[in-house]
Amino acid sequence: MKECALCQESKPLQNSHILPKNHFRDLMGISKKPHLLYRTNTDNKSTNFVQDGLKTELLCFDCEQRLGRYENSFKRNFFVPFTKRAERIIVYQEWLLKFAVSLSWRLCLYSLSNSHLGDDSYPGMRERLLNAVEVWRLYLLDRQDNPGKYEQHIFPLQIPKTYTVREHRHLTESISFWIHVNDDQYLVYSRIQTIAIVGLIELPNSSKWRSSRISTN
Ligand SMILES: [Zn+2]
Repeated sequence: MKECALCQESKPLQNSHILPKNHFRDLMGISKKPHLLYRTNTDNKSTNFVQDGLKTELLCFDCEQRLGRYENSFKRNFFVPFTKRAERIIVYQEWLLKFAVSLSWRLCLYSLSNSHLGDDSYPGMRERLLNAVEVWRLYLLDRQDNPGKYEQHIFPLQIPKTYTVREHRHLTESISFWIHVNDDQYLVYSRIQTIAIVGLIELPNSSKWRSSRISTN
């Protein structure tokens, strides 16, 4: 029997969604052709379109439930008030950080198992990602109080007034993610419609990013 990626126990695994399944389900409802974009190459030139919400055997039932609770809290307490009711002051608790970490953790794991993400261009990249993945895993299991230097940041995106209908739809009806690597920067970027979440793995001068940082609260 395979191991669960989160608790690392040998249990039957669920066919887990890499990206939040309730958001993907919603997109299926509002768009004839919802799309999820995944950039496989670190040079950001190659993009895959994925139609099924990206599923893989990853978590046991208990861990799936655990991450599902954070996902539901994010959707109910942040995503819906912000995007549907235009609320601009959102009080959050630790579920926001747990959700953001769970997203970055899953995307990093997925990318690490993807053959395109090698060490060819950036020596040590795999090791950096693995270190972050392990810290995030321990935090998700409540074995660590916070994710340490592997912070999470959240950016609500404004849709520029100059956007065409097509560009507007592209932003509001899609989910995208990629690992951004650029010399000394290593970031896990995910965007759920108009909310972007960035997990920091390496970022010089990250103290400049204070206002977007999600705290443990
Ligand atoms: Zn588990």
